[in-house]
Amino acid sequence: MGKFFSNGLLLKFKIKRTDEIIMDLNSYEEFLDKAYEKVPENVKRSSRFETPKVRLRIESRNTFITNFNKIIFTLNRDKRHFLGIFLKKAGTMGEIRGQQLFLKGQYKDQVLNRLIENYTKTYVLCSICKKPDTQIQREGKKYYLKCTACGAREEIREK
Ligand SMILES: [Zn+2]
Repeated sequence: MGKFFSNGLLLKFKIKRTDEIIMDLNSYEEFLDKAYEKVPENVKRSSRFETPKVRLRIESRNTFITNFNKIIFTLNRDKRHFLGIFLKKAGTMGEIRGQQLFLKGQYKDQVLNRLIENYTKTYVLCSICKKPDTQIQREGKKYYLKCTACGAREEIREK
């Protein structure tokens, strides 16, 4: 009889401990949420993808994007794909010369940066999670942006 009684106590004690552990896990998740809320906005923003900016050299009224290779590396897209769209939007001719991109005509950095931002929004960043971990997939005449981070797959609509 005494033995039964002590087992009963032990059982109650164990259940109580489990409840406490579950409560601890919940409050730990709450703690994490609150901790993330307290992360300064600028820190959250810096972990987001940043569209690369051009560095320019003007020579004989033509423009060289001197960090072109780095821009392409950051965007992680095919050079020809990027150039086809970029040159058409800029309305000029251009060609790759070593690490640089030669553009016929004089261009301001704001104008070229805007074109790269637009390209990035349409062909690089996932529209759902905003991450750059994407691939362009072709299906017949349609193109899709497949995100390897969140799994989303959206049809690419040119702007
Ligand atoms: Zn995504």
